[in-house]
This record gives sequence, C-alpha cells and structure tokens, in this order.
Amino acid sequence: MRVHEGGVDLEVPEQPAEGAGDVVFFNPVQELNRDLTVAALRAYRERNPDADTYCDATTATGVRGVRAAADGWTVTCCDVDPDATTLAGKNLARNDLDGETVTRDANVVLHERTFDIVDIDPFGTPVPFADAAFRGTGELLCVTATDLAPLCGAHFNSGVRSYSAIPRNTEYHGEMGVRILLSTLARTAARYDVAVDPLCTHASAHYVRTYLALDRGAQVADATLDSVGHIYHCPACLWRGAEHGLTADPPDGCDNCGDPVETAGPVWLDRTADSDFLDATAASVPDGFGTAEEARDLLETLADELATPTHYDQHRLCKLWSRPATAMDDFLDDLRAAGHDASRTHYGGTTFKTTASVGAIRTVTGNSV
Ligand SMILES: [Zn+2]
Repeated sequence: MRVHEGGVDLEVPEQPAEGAGDVVFFNPVQELNRDLTVAALRAYRERNPDADTYCDATTATGVRGVRAAADGWTVTCCDVDPDATTLAGKNLARNDLDGETVTRDANVVLHERTFDIVDIDPFGTPVPFADAAFRGTGELLCVTATDLAPLCGAHFNSGVRSYSAIPRNTEYHGEMGVRILLSTLARTAARYDVAVDPLCTHASAHYVRTYLALDRGAQVADATLDSVGHIYHCPACLWRGAEHGLTADPPDGCDNCGDPVETAGPVWLDRTADSDFLDATAASVPDGFGTAEEARDLLETLADELATPTHYDQHRLCKLWSRPATAMDDFLDDLRAAGHDASRTHYGGTTFKTTASVGAIRTVTGNSV
C-alpha cells in the first residue's frame, strides 16, 4: 500500500490484522513519533550545525531514514532483513533521495562505524541494541521502547530481565516506564564512559521515546549515575518518596500512613527533557506534518512539566479519598495558592506534578470541594 507522510511517499506491505507477522513492519500509529523525530533532528542541527550522519539502525520500511534524508541528513538505513533493506532502498529511490542501505545486524554495524545520530526503533525492547548504540553514536541517540508493559511493571519478570531494574506497577505507569528506560540506558552508557543528557522524553500510547545527547569521559559518566536512584511507593495511600544513589534504603514504613512501601529502581530521578530543546523542537514542527498540532501540544506540555520524579492522577486520589474530582485548573490553583509548585503532565488529562506531599495535596485541595 501507498503511504504519504511528512512530504515523502512510501510503499509499505499490507500489515496483518494482529501481531508483527512475516512482512516488513510498518506502524501508522507512530507518525507522531516520526514527526517529532524530524523536528528534534532539526532542533539538534541548530545546536550543532556540523551534525550530518544519521543511522536508522532498525529501518524496516525505511520510513525514518527516508524522512531524515528528505530533510538533508546523510542517511544509512540498516536492517538484518534483506527484504527490509531492499524496500528501504526502493523508498529512498521513489523520493529521488540518496541514502545507503546496509543488510547487517545493527549491533555489528554500530561496533564498526560511528554516526553522528543513531536511531534505535525496534519492535519491542531496544535493550539488545543499547551496548552497540553507545559505541556507534557520536552525538545523539534516539531510542523507542514499545514494550511498555514490562517497563512499567505490569509484566514484572520481563521488565526485570530486560532492564536490570525493579519496575513497579503504579498509577504513574507511563512515567515508571520513562524512568526505568532512562536508568537502564544511563547505566549501559556508563560502562563505556559515556554520559547521557535527556533532551526530550515522552510516553505516548504504548511506547516510550527518548533523545539522549552523549558526552564522553569517566567523570561525566560518574556524574550521570548520580541521576539514578529509587522510588519508594505506598500502595495504600499513594505517598511516594525518592532517593538518589545505586543503593536502596527504603523507610521502614510510609511517611504518611505507616504501611509498608514498595521500592522501584534503579530509576532515573532527574529531569527527562531540556526545556530549551523542547521549545526549539516545537518551533521546528512544520504546519504540513500530519500530527503538527498534536506534536506542538505535547512539546508545550512537556516544557511546562515539573521535573519531580513521579506524578499523581487527580481522579485516583479523589476516589481514594471518597470525594468528587474538581476542574484541573482549580485543583492546581489550590496547590499553588498554598505555596506548592504544580503542573499538568503529558501522561494524561487528569495527571499532575507537584512539590506537595500526598498529605498536603489532600488538605489544601479539600477546601473547594
Ligand atoms: Zn501510605
């Protein structure tokens, strides 16, 4: 079938109704992810005009590589499946674009060569490519993880195996996925004396996407590991605490109600995006992109989001407290009026972040009910 996306034309196989099937995979739902990628690459090029080479390491139909080539990048489309690289080559030619296709395992290619920007967008977990990616990426590593159930703790054993961390299935599951993924990537990078700086990270639909600027050196890699730590979560009252460090030291009981807490980690505890980069990316989304409005809305919400390591869901709290939910703007105003920082988040329409504890949230937002 023919697909027109972001100004390029692609031929992609008809996709099976369920599962990946045998045909080269194409996911139309990922158009937002791809539109954001092109915009983020433009924003990155403004930061570093020398950036030039882009490796679409798990290219499948070549859609990411074709779109990057159309935007002026020197592109390599890599896939272990010859059907995929043949299709990617045809899709480059269909758009009169230059670009290299390489039929090899990305892990081999990324150990042999270095690209300014590497994009790991596999079906499922990106972890099998992470070691090679930190060897073969010069500047910016873009990673998608579509295995949100393991990442957020819903498939616990699978999450532990893939990410060498303990995820917990909480009401902030998308953010658990974001912070588990970033922690695993940061700890993998540190093995090669590489530091990661997350420029943009989001959880959308059933995937997590992150853009990591890399720096090299033992000292900066040590400093990156300082961003990793643990979250302590109380399932009874939804209190949570966070503590930096690779060693967990959970409290004997919840600060708020005294019940036992669950420990998640190591997770990434510091900011997951750079607000200047988010603004530059939003300014780089052209009107013609299919998801332009959605992309700009997402980037704006991300830029306004507090950096605190977990978020709350107002409806979940109000249900726990047996009281009606209120309008989000009023709810957040109550928190701010009491001296706390508060913001919406991109994880859902009734989600918010705040510097207030769960006990303080209950008290200060209860007055207007
Ligand atoms: Zn508690």
